[in-house]
Amino acid sequence: MKHDEAPDLLTKVYPKLGSWLRSFPAGTSVDPAARIPADIVVKALNELAERLTGNFPFHSDIYAGQMLKPPHEIAWAAYALTSLINPNNHALDGGPPTSEMEKEVISQFFSMFGFDDPGLGHLTSSGTIANLEALWVARHLHPQKGIAFSSQAHYTHHRMCEVLGLTCFVIPTDEHGMWDMDYLHQHIAEIGTVVVTMGTTGMGRVEALHHIQPYCEAKNVRIHLDAAYGGYYKLLEENGDIEAGPWSYTAKADSIVIDPHKHGLQPYGCGCILFRDPTVGRFYKHDSPYTYFSSDELHLGEISLECSRAGAAAAALWTTLKVFGLNPGGEMQALLSLCRQAAVDFYGKITRDGNFDVLEQPELDIVVYFPVRQLLTGDAQQSTIKRVSGISAASEAIFRRGMEKGPDGVFVSLYKIPSSVFAKKYPDIETDADSVTVLRSVLMKPGHNGAVDMLVGRLNDLAGGIKYQT
Ligand SMILES: *Cc1c(COP(=O)(O)O)cnc(C)c1O
Repeated sequence: MKHDEAPDLLTKVYPKLGSWLRSFPAGTSVDPAARIPADIVVKALNELAERLTGNFPFHSDIYAGQMLKPPHEIAWAAYALTSLINPNNHALDGGPPTSEMEKEVISQFFSMFGFDDPGLGHLTSSGTIANLEALWVARHLHPQKGIAFSSQAHYTHHRMCEVLGLTCFVIPTDEHGMWDMDYLHQHIAEIGTVVVTMGTTGMGRVEALHHIQPYCEAKNVRIHLDAAYGGYYKLLEENGDIEAGPWSYTAKADSIVIDPHKHGLQPYGCGCILFRDPTVGRFYKHDSPYTYFSSDELHLGEISLECSRAGAAAAALWTTLKVFGLNPGGEMQALLSLCRQAAVDFYGKITRDGNFDVLEQPELDIVVYFPVRQLLTGDAQQSTIKRVSGISAASEAIFRRGMEKGPDGVFVSLYKIPSSVFAKKYPDIETDADSVTVLRSVLMKPGHNGAVDMLVGRLNDLAGGIKYQT
């Protein structure tokens, strides 16, 4: 978002809605009984603005830490404008236009993943809720069976299996994230649905759907795709920027989760669940004595677990897609290409410069790396780090010092790996601790594309200055 322009944008579009609001009695968005003098409102908001400066600079290119990026200005303005009405997408009675918009964006996601429309799908408040729904439907379809996911899957699957009382099978993975297919084979009779993560939260790995799907189909096991993070990368399937294999099987999945509030330029509060088979709608069946009256058409609340949901979230996504689209060759695809390129360049530069080692070539836009050299206290000589505890200490120091430098620093995140996995790739490094903490950068802002030299340059500077006792 161009922060200086967003409020201005809102003033430009407000008049159209304002005149509709004012055409009703007492027609403003603030109830007269709740009206307070402007100076008091401004004072409170200024206090908020002050408090908000306590954040890390998520909006800046020097922030390449967690999965965070500010929404696009168009999403921000659409959300703010819609909030003046505050429609509720639970029922058509709560907001007919935004409910329609939600159905339209869902249909765009269906075609992006190659699902026939109509399937059944809707927006959710988050990827967590979207995945919960997927597992809940999985339980309805195979009440006696469990859920399998890999050790790389998001922790939400383990937790939701607990909520739903489902047995889970955690598939071991090797140091490259590849599944232990023997484990899956041994337990397949007890498994109803397999979760495949398209863009793992830790390293951005895309699990081998093209190998897993045919096996599961032969065994009559369902597939759920957790594409909360990586889903938008489907747009790069055909332009050669990413490995296309796994993505070419998305149409064969039974359900898919994608989070527009991760890569889709949306503010938080926007997840999405899609089911290929619309008849799973029967599991949601309920009646409500106070909800569904204005239309015989299906209300979104009749096919979702959540009740109240922000119509503004649907409006923001709909408006964003008007401009950015989900079509091959479109604007959204171009933005994803920039993020992907940033990760490729970051990987290339940091590997060449020699202060860090990269665990693996990034598959999407997440790079995981660690410092290889240290300065010993009282010694100007650099030496190679020989123990995992040394790597953890140096990573933590770089992480901390990068933040302490504020606008002149760099913001990265930490990532913990079991030493047993790490040792397979680096047998010469002594494993004197159970896990090793390394550095992780999520390059999910298109602006990262032009910032790679600066980011790696700052990391090199930090790595050169780390001194500690071994
Ligand atoms: C972020 C994420 C989730 C959880 O989604 P929220 O929107 O944070 O609730 C689930 N799975 C994966 C792969 C994720 O990256």
